[in-house]
Amino acid sequence: MKKITLTFDNGPTPGVTESILAILAERGIKTTFFVMGNRIGDPVGAALLDKIVEHGHWVGNHSFTHSVAFGDSTEPGYALREIGDTQALIAERGISERLFRPFGNFGLLGPHLLSEEALAHLIEHRFTCIAWNSVPHDWDDQAHWVERCLSDVAKQDWTVVVLHDIEDASLERLTELLDGLAKQGIEIVQSFPEEVVLIRDGEPVSLKPSHVAGRS
Ligand SMILES: [Zn+2]
Repeated sequence: MKKITLTFDNGPTPGVTESILAILAERGIKTTFFVMGNRIGDPVGAALLDKIVEHGHWVGNHSFTHSVAFGDSTEPGYALREIGDTQALIAERGISERLFRPFGNFGLLGPHLLSEEALAHLIEHRFTCIAWNSVPHDWDDQAHWVERCLSDVAKQDWTVVVLHDIEDASLERLTELLDGLAKQGIEIVQSFPEEVVLIRDGEPVSLKPSHVAGRS
């Protein structure tokens, strides 16, 4: 049976996250939300984070500002601030798991994902670092992203899809996607296949030189 792991990045977003959670709860689906530090520091964002956890989803760190990709930054201390400050806010909500997802430029995998500084931080603090193998472009191609996701699912045994917990992205057609997956008998799971686990608890797993700036 083919599998899919759903992930929701770049949130939480008031008015969006609650609706995504309701749709997932109705169908008993558990996922991971990779959140941004600058969205969870205020009481509204922190309350949404609590709600995500209450619903049984996992929470991961997706940087503080999601601005310059780690591998594209040469600023000392950048990774520490982006990852460390976000993780401190996540920990404040009582979440002890350390999951991290770097961001690609428009979903691409490559040497922009990580810098040596970011990598050293992730290893030192025993993070689990999660990549992906499907980016259907829910944020900029509303007309086709569901079809693109279903076609990715048909092509691989276990798809890890990047969706977005922001306005005008996955929410609009989420039920359509879930109906399509159900129709094709795809199993929705919360865990991740080894191929997208770049680092597990600080130990490199599927990390490649091509994921780190200057290594390949
Ligand atoms: Zn992102």
